[in-house]
Amino acid sequence: MDDVRRPWRGLAHPRPRRTGVARPRGARTPPPRRLPRARGAAPHRPRRTRPPRPPARRLGLPVPPGSRPPLVQLPHTLADALRRSMSKGKEKRQKKKRQQPEASVAPQPQPDALPPIQGPARAMVIMAHPDDADFLCAGTVAKWCAEGWEVIYVVVTSGDKGTHDPAMHPEKLAAIREEEQREACRVLGVKECIFLGYPDGFTSESAELRGQIVRLLRLYRPDVVITWDAFRGTFNHRDHRNVGQATMDAIYPIVRDRLFYQHHEHEGLESHQVNEVLLAGADKPDYSVDITDYWEKKIEAILCHTSQLGGRTKEDFLRERAEREKREPGKPIEERFRRWSIRRPMRQPQAAAPAEPRPKPQRAAAG
Ligand SMILES: [Zn+2]
Repeated sequence: MDDVRRPWRGLAHPRPRRTGVARPRGARTPPPRRLPRARGAAPHRPRRTRPPRPPARRLGLPVPPGSRPPLVQLPHTLADALRRSMSKGKEKRQKKKRQQPEASVAPQPQPDALPPIQGPARAMVIMAHPDDADFLCAGTVAKWCAEGWEVIYVVVTSGDKGTHDPAMHPEKLAAIREEEQREACRVLGVKECIFLGYPDGFTSESAELRGQIVRLLRLYRPDVVITWDAFRGTFNHRDHRNVGQATMDAIYPIVRDRLFYQHHEHEGLESHQVNEVLLAGADKPDYSVDITDYWEKKIEAILCHTSQLGGRTKEDFLRERAEREKREPGKPIEERFRRWSIRRPMRQPQAAAPAEPRPKPQRAAAG
């Protein structure tokens, strides 16, 4: 019925103009004039059965000649009073809106606001591919190693898809990239580099990967972990996201609570607490490390990843740095992170009940 009487509904062309023919007395009030809706748009709301209270904005608008009169004609005095009161409300709302942004915007954390992480300590860098760590944080790693920190790299995949070479195959590329990463570790002074051997692009945020990371955390017992920021809201590689997520979940609370992956105790591994996590690749960093003095070391580590550089040389990096210096003279070079401090006291092991003594597990040689 509706379609017959209003064939323009749902069509793209405009509704035909009304002809101005007088309606018979008692006929239904025509619907308010609307712009034609696009095909597939949300349906019109059902017609209200009683006249609504007229909104003040309608009362305040001039009525074009020949248009439909308002549904309810208020006495002038009441209409004026309403208009005045609604206009006051509108002013108040606008004033509130003007004030709101100032009140609701929280102060953004400044990258230098957090105190530096104290060392020397032990750090573990857990990344998805060979070269991730060196592009993201080799300056920080070089600085730490120079200050006597012990740094361990964990690389979840061997980056066996990262090529456009038609003659390359995954096993060969994995071997090349693992060797490139080992060489970069030698340059930086990283103590150990561990590959978990997942195929590039096929990591998932799984209990297996989480368990492997938990085991390494319990084995090497780092104070600080650097990993990918899994929660950044922008474009990211699935391996970066999954490795970041698995690492963060491993750190809190799994590695700390002994009943997770309890079989680690059979290897003599105890629960552990990581106190500081630096999330690399974060879109809202709040912690920075000045690597100006370690920039050349970082570039040296990056240059080890020959298969990934597309022919870029040290001269290219030096030229970029010179251009930056010209643009921003004296500006320190920084690596930036989102810092996640777990400021909770380590759970103290409780004494076993005398009735059921538990043999204390032997610690494996860590590090
Ligand atoms: Zn990567």
